[in-house]
Amino acid sequence: MKHINFLAFAMPAFFLFLFLEYKLAQRKKRPEIFNYESSVSNISIGIAERLINLFIAASFYQLYYLIYDNYRILDIPSNVFVWIALILATDFVWYWYHRLGHEVNFFWAAHIVHHHSEEFNFTAAARITTFQAVVRTGFWCVLPLVGFHPSMVITMLIVHGAYSFFTHTQLIGRVKWLEYVFVTPSVHGVHHASDEKYLDKNYGDMFTFWDRLFGTFQEEEEKPKYGLTHPLKSYSFLWQHFHYYFEIYELWKRSEGFKAKWKAVFGSPAHMDQDIRPTLEKRFLQDKANPHQRLRFKNYLYIQLGVCTLFLTVFTYYFEFLNAVDKVFVLSIILITLVNCGALLEQRKWMYYLEYVRIFMFTTYLLYVENLISFFFIPLAIMIFAEQLFSLSTRYQNVILQLETSE
Ligand SMILES: [Zn+2]
Ligand SMILES: [Zn+2]
Repeated sequence: MKHINFLAFAMPAFFLFLFLEYKLAQRKKRPEIFNYESSVSNISIGIAERLINLFIAASFYQLYYLIYDNYRILDIPSNVFVWIALILATDFVWYWYHRLGHEVNFFWAAHIVHHHSEEFNFTAAARITTFQAVVRTGFWCVLPLVGFHPSMVITMLIVHGAYSFFTHTQLIGRVKWLEYVFVTPSVHGVHHASDEKYLDKNYGDMFTFWDRLFGTFQEEEEKPKYGLTHPLKSYSFLWQHFHYYFEIYELWKRSEGFKAKWKAVFGSPAHMDQDIRPTLEKRFLQDKANPHQRLRFKNYLYIQLGVCTLFLTVFTYYFEFLNAVDKVFVLSIILITLVNCGALLEQRKWMYYLEYVRIFMFTTYLLYVENLISFFFIPLAIMIFAEQLFSLSTRYQNVILQLETSE
């Protein structure tokens, strides 16, 4: 139970640090550090990862124990030197997980999401997906295999993860001598840059000596331009998660012969056909009405994200005590809300139908809790009736999808 409590407090702690960073950015007169749409998008992706993590973290931990109990190579005791060795080993494994995440298409499909953000602040640190967590767990298995006890490994992963949160900010000044040993916000900012000389540099998470050793270290010279060399111009929750898998599949289909098909999956992202993404976006995403228009009704987004955060915090705290139906309900309602937030940013008209799905799910769940599930059709009938009578879709679009022109 202790562990679950800790996780529940991670969300409020994140928002507290984010609030401090935001206030500091205002005080330092650097409002450009935050971009509204991008921040919302980053936080949505982070919420989804924390949510799904509740369902799968236990199996990650079980996997470490399974490997340690059956296949460990060494019997490593627990003492101060072993902790130091573990922190180094963890960062070394991270270095290679991260480097391959940039050099192999299949791994890049998971890691690219972290790099979509064109802003560099604490919200970018939250931009982690479950796919990334799964790939990373595969790499972490090396640690119990070598012989580090899983309880030590799990503790270290939490410390390691917390450290990298604080390297995603532009508000901590540069301390050059620290960069000889530690990854600082400036060092990691270079990793997030799309400038030619900053590409494929600084893979370390805590220490810079792996990068120095393998020739991938680059210190900050000019101010970095954050984001991808080929930016993803979409805030769609689903498209952001899956676009690169679709790109790999398309490249695989277009490739002829085993070698070319192999390269489509395991080759370098640098060789990805840049014509594929626009083609797929035309197929899967409708064109936006006007890219220069911004959403006026932002409060609706804040409310939805706020409710998601609150739900997730309480859900994390009580996760162990809930039954399967409660868990599936919370999982689906939060995920649908996140899809809704993305659709709102993209001004998609179909999000209106998603609202119906959400209301229907909510009422059905309430009826289930009250043992009245056989009356599920009543809210459905009311919704259809209300739609016919008050033409809600038009009203909804006029209020929620209001736009204002920005230069
Ligand atoms: Zn990276
Ligand atoms: Zn990062």
